[in-house]
Amino acid sequence: MKPPASPACSFDLSGRRALVTGSSRGIGAAIALGLAEAGADVVVHFTGREEEAREVARSAEVLGVRTAVVQADLSADGAARRVYDGAVAGLGGVDILVLNASVQTRKDWLAFTREDVDWHVAVNYRSSFELLQLCAPGMIERKWGRLLAIGSVQETKPHPQMLVYSSLKHAQTGLVLGLAPQLAPHGITANNLAPGVILTDRNTAALSDADYAEKVRAAIPAGFLGESADCVGAALLLCSDAGRYITGQNLFVDGGLGL
Ligand code: NAP
Repeated sequence: MKPPASPACSFDLSGRRALVTGSSRGIGAAIALGLAEAGADVVVHFTGREEEAREVARSAEVLGVRTAVVQADLSADGAARRVYDGAVAGLGGVDILVLNASVQTRKDWLAFTREDVDWHVAVNYRSSFELLQLCAPGMIERKWGRLLAIGSVQETKPHPQMLVYSSLKHAQTGLVLGLAPQLAPHGITANNLAPGVILTDRNTAALSDADYAEKVRAAIPAGFLGESADCVGAALLLCSDAGRYITGQNLFVDGGLGL
């Protein structure tokens, strides 16, 4: 028996244009390539690693989609505007926005300076707010859009040395989920995807300590650390027509760690 012929069954993203921040590596690169595999044109964004970003774009082009590569340090004034303008110049618009880039510093909360806090706020919250403001109006006009923030299992299990990071993930989730009801009438969904421990460059150093890595693994009910690829299926669902009836949700992709 075939699935019913309804857009609600379709993961096809042909003709959609996706902007994935921080997609030169890690989870962002995996999501960008997953969206490209489903047919979306993709904007690959990076801050310092241009060669990695261009490699992700080349891999997407092999899948038959158009790409653009944009650089911006999202802590800088005007960076969100530059990323958006680069996406529009490259692909003509943004139908899918994945807010993936973030920074995180580990240290005792009493040692955080005002500069540390401002930097985290600028990259992890302010740039997300501004990109949402820039991308949503076009989606409203076209009556279709997908907004997906990448959160963290730290929204329920904050690491004691990353309280600025984890609290800003809450703020970003609150923003996206708060937008969901007002954008739903326009054919736009807004969700959060909260990964657990995923093996990427950002935690290589911490997990190179075998005892620590084993302690982390043992705390994960599924019994293993995730890969960037583990986030792709959920992202595809939330960015396609298959997810058109899912909005305002926070989906944990964490092997049960947050439970
Ligand atoms: P990652 O491997 O560290 O990659 C970070 C990406 O963000 C890179 O593309 C990097 O660009 C870009 N970036 C870094 N600083 C930036 C800045 N100031 N302005 C703009 N872009 C910047 O990250 P990841 O581990 O894949 O994490 C991706 C997302 O998942 C993040 O939001 C993170 O909080 C979340 N997350 C990750 C884990 C995990 O275990 N890995 C767990 C929970 C949540 P360059 O390559 O040019 O440096």
